[in-house]
Amino acid sequence: MPLPKSLLSQIRERAQYHCEYCHYPERLSTAPLSVDHIQPRSLGGTDEIENLALACRRCNERRYNFTYGADPQTELETPLFNPRTQTWSDHFTWSSDGLCIIGLTPIGRATCQRMDLMDLNDDRRPDKFIQESRKQWLQGGFHPPNDDSQQNE
Ligand SMILES: [Zn+2]
Repeated sequence: MPLPKSLLSQIRERAQYHCEYCHYPERLSTAPLSVDHIQPRSLGGTDEIENLALACRRCNERRYNFTYGADPQTELETPLFNPRTQTWSDHFTWSSDGLCIIGLTPIGRATCQRMDLMDLNDDRRPDKFIQESRKQWLQGGFHPPNDDSQQNE
């Protein structure tokens, strides 16, 4: 069943109209961002607002129904970033050129790896589509978002 419109509005407003994982701004999208179930429905997650996050299609598809990922530094399985209980800037930062997201903690690194947020020069990602987009957003003054305003209460 689709989520009620009023719930969608609350989710979008709470996320300040950004993807809660990669901070993609909804205003650059031709369609509203999608809603991610933090605990996937297939694993018993509900449609309660505390289980929902605003996510771009790219992040939503890459997260799929994963709740854990491996920290590339330790190879240990680590829970993925939870935008309801954790603060983005505690776990991630932007590279100095504003084009890449860098994981700062095991959770941040595992999430970057699982959701392919880093866009490093690695063989898995010969296209640099998201970095090219971010370059355009930087020039337009849309990026990076003010992460201080993304703090959770
Ligand atoms: Zn995203």
